[in-house]
Amino acid sequence: MFLTGAGVSAESGIPTFRGKEGYWTVRAREYHPQELATHEAFEAMPWEVWAWYLYRRAICRNAAPNDGHRALVRAGTAWPDRFALVTQNVDGLHRRAGNADHHVLAIHGDIQQMRCARECVADRWQIPDAVGELGKGEPVSPAVKALLVCPKCTGMARPHVLWFDESYDEERYHLDTVRRIANEAALVVVAGTSAQTNLPWQVVTLGARAGATIVDINLEDNPFGEIAQKSGGVIRGPAAAALTAIVDRLVG
Ligand code: NAD
Ligand code: ZN
Repeated sequence: MFLTGAGVSAESGIPTFRGKEGYWTVRAREYHPQELATHEAFEAMPWEVWAWYLYRRAICRNAAPNDGHRALVRAGTAWPDRFALVTQNVDGLHRRAGNADHHVLAIHGDIQQMRCARECVADRWQIPDAVGELGKGEPVSPAVKALLVCPKCTGMARPHVLWFDESYDEERYHLDTVRRIANEAALVVVAGTSAQTNLPWQVVTLGARAGATIVDINLEDNPFGEIAQKSGGVIRGPAAAALTAIVDRLVG
């Protein structure tokens, strides 16, 4: 079981939520991602939140998978029946690199998709190509607003992502599946995540409790590193090289 966070896509040029690049200005006020990636912010200023997502969606579309993503494709190919890739990343790079759809559990959603803001149905749809790409600070035009609607009820659509003030579930975010796999895993390799979200935390603690070997790859110390130190190992360095080395060693 591999668990990836924003650090794995950092080497593809997609900013993480930490540091200066994460901030976003709305009407002269700077917001931290943890304030904007919320249902509360979407209720208060939906088009400003959409503008932020459409800008980040454009960055993700223009990014390419790196060696870390490619290593995980090799792992999935080597162990087709006992491999799972749980990702917090919404950028779609694991699938674009070539991991099979059924191997990738995107527990925070997909920035290329939208669903009904009123949840009239659970379906999700690709954001239409005609939406195009938004530059930094560019507002959502009336023509684009008209495309960001639920095809079922014609109400406003929302990005298909899990916000900080929302809960995981199985239907949208694979909660039960991920917990089951964590309980059965022999090896959990965590890469590029700061341990600040709930389901990744469950993955690592459930895995450790069930006796799995835990490996933490990150540039910095973090709470997962403390667990990995006791039940596996810690690699302090860039994710692409570390994932390549681990998969090369395991796959041979
Ligand atoms: P985070 O931004 O909170 O933390 C990133 C972590 O990666 C940090 O611990 C940092 O030390 C580490 N890191 C940075 N560069 C690295 C590298 N080259 N190699 C190894 N480690 C590196 O990210 P998070 O914990 O994944 O989650 C925060 C939330 O942000 C999630 O909900 C996620 O969905 C969302 N997010 C997604 C993307 C994406 O899809 N690419 C990008 C930004 C944020
Ligand atoms: Zn609807």
